[in-house]
Amino acid sequence: MTETLFALTNDDAGGSAPELFEELLDFLDAQQVPVTFFVLPHGQGTPLDSKPEWMALLKRALKSGHELQLHAFDHSSTFEFGVPPDFMLDIIPDAKARWEREPEVVQQAHTLELMSDRIARGKAIFERALGYAPTGFRGPCLSMSANTYQALANHGFVWSSNEVVNPMGWRYINKDYDAGEPWQPNVPPHPYRYTAGIIEIPMVSEYTWYLTPEDMDRHYDLIRSDFDRVRAVGGTFLTLSHYYAMTGEWTTGLRVYERLFEYARSLGDVRFVTVSRLLDAYGVPD
Ligand SMILES: [Zn+2]
Repeated sequence: MTETLFALTNDDAGGSAPELFEELLDFLDAQQVPVTFFVLPHGQGTPLDSKPEWMALLKRALKSGHELQLHAFDHSSTFEFGVPPDFMLDIIPDAKARWEREPEVVQQAHTLELMSDRIARGKAIFERALGYAPTGFRGPCLSMSANTYQALANHGFVWSSNEVVNPMGWRYINKDYDAGEPWQPNVPPHPYRYTAGIIEIPMVSEYTWYLTPEDMDRHYDLIRSDFDRVRAVGGTFLTLSHYYAMTGEWTTGLRVYERLFEYARSLGDVRFVTVSRLLDAYGVPD
């Protein structure tokens, strides 16, 4: 493949602060960049279709060419669909302590029956609200388990985006800039066949979690070097972000993307796509 496919993803729509989501939509309209939003079907204990403000914003997102897919059920627990990766637990000390204290209890909540029930209920609300069945899924705090993948396959899902190529983005969140952690050797930066036949389309990292202006250059350097490295190996560049952590008083995150979009456009062979279009263009892996 000669072109680089660039898919920005953004989590937690349907949760708090819809006005910040609207701010991101305005930015994306101006940038003409399509995004895949992972949407909570039952955020804060209320079904999506009972939230008129969110419904209007999500319809606007679809009209602008963005993609909406399923995220968690109610996002009420760090362990909702499995156990998050270590670098994620390192930024959530309470959850890490619980996982270390009672791993068996945590894992007992991830039976196929329970995961299947949560996926089915989330999918039903999503369909009722938006009029189509989601095909992609992301777990809350990237928590996933083998039974969750099986439940996704059983409910007609095609792909997920939960694996991480470069955990350094989370080390940066902890201001641990010198962790020197290598890219995950078992996570290639492109779609691949994963558990239960689900196609995994991994994210490279998260780069824009509540940045201040002083963070600008350091975080831009990280995302730019990851982007260049993905291009050098002919991979696909998928990133994770959260609307409320890059808008309002935290717009440095938008400035990081603005700068990267400008750089990507200057190269002439980068295409901004939703995750489903990325998969179409890349081709379904064996
Ligand atoms: Zn989330």
